[in-house]
Amino acid sequence: MGIIKTHDVIIIGGGPAGLTAGIYASRAKLKTVLIEKGLAGGQISVTEKVENYAGFSAGAGQELIDIMEGQAKEFGTEMVLGEVEAVQFGGDTKIVTTNRGEYRAPVVILATGSHSRKLHVPGEDEFMGRGVSFCATCDGPFYEGLPVMVVGGGDAAVEEGLALTRFAQKVYIVHRRDALRATRIVQERAFANDKIEFIWDSVVEELKGGEQLEQVVVKNVKDGQRREFTISGIFVYIGFIPNTGFVADKVEMDERGYIITNDVMETSVPGVYAAGDCRQKLLRQAVTAAGDGATAAFAAEKYLEGRV
Ligand code: NAP
Repeated sequence: MGIIKTHDVIIIGGGPAGLTAGIYASRAKLKTVLIEKGLAGGQISVTEKVENYAGFSAGAGQELIDIMEGQAKEFGTEMVLGEVEAVQFGGDTKIVTTNRGEYRAPVVILATGSHSRKLHVPGEDEFMGRGVSFCATCDGPFYEGLPVMVVGGGDAAVEEGLALTRFAQKVYIVHRRDALRATRIVQERAFANDKIEFIWDSVVEELKGGEQLEQVVVKNVKDGQRREFTISGIFVYIGFIPNTGFVADKVEMDERGYIITNDVMETSVPGVYAAGDCRQKLLRQAVTAAGDGATAAFAAEKYLEGRV
């Protein structure tokens, strides 16, 4: 404790956005530190198979992360295992205080990602990656010809439910009310799709199985009746939570807590950038996170050149 280290760039978060920012910043010969509170990787490291990251075919998410981390280190990114406790973005020098000491730099790249809101029901953690998924785009193809369930009534749930009909034999969409939140046109498409069956006014109560998920217990909130469905995969889409609480009053955010950036990933604070799932954007995938990270590091390099 008590150490103070000075860098050109501090990256917070070690998923695809942060690691790619590390590769680009280090290759630009910027003294770069990446602070990650756990193992590098973020959400993708729990993805069984990544098939949609161009150039990386059907390996585990963790394998892709290992390659990215190796590249970042090879070019000189210093990796720090530490938890950010506070940030000060007030002056020209930004200060990031962690449980491992204090880091100072003119540039900070926020790449802290987001996490899916969980169901918090028995079996959810147990079957994570073995039937429980938070990403239909990533995992949908594994359920070819099998019955799946989607939870939620927003755009994400209904759109992903529709996408899953390309693979699954049947898609149940469980929603806690009797009306969807999703946009009307998305609703109409879902209502017209023979493979989709809505389970209204219902919540998931328990997930059961052996090695893999096998059954889902659903309770009707109006009459209290329980039904057990044979399900191979359950996709939870009840909202996402960006990991941005620690910068809530430091950079501009939208009403859901996503950081607002311009097209070079700069936030409302000069020298502070955001990349990946923690920022307001259309598509939250590893490949777009990596693109954000590259752009943020390149913009940071230009920002630093402008200061000299
Ligand atoms: P969302 O719009 O917040 O919807 C979350 C859904 O989950 C709601 O239907 C909500 O039910 C339900 N829910 C929340 N907590 C729950 C719980 N504890 N148990 C059971 N159900 C629960 O989230 P989203 O669908 O992820 O979308 C987020 C934002 O991205 C939205 O603004 C959406 O329009 C946007 N989006 C847009 C597109 C698109 O335009 N193509 C695609 C995806 C997402 P209630 O309805 O009862 O609250």
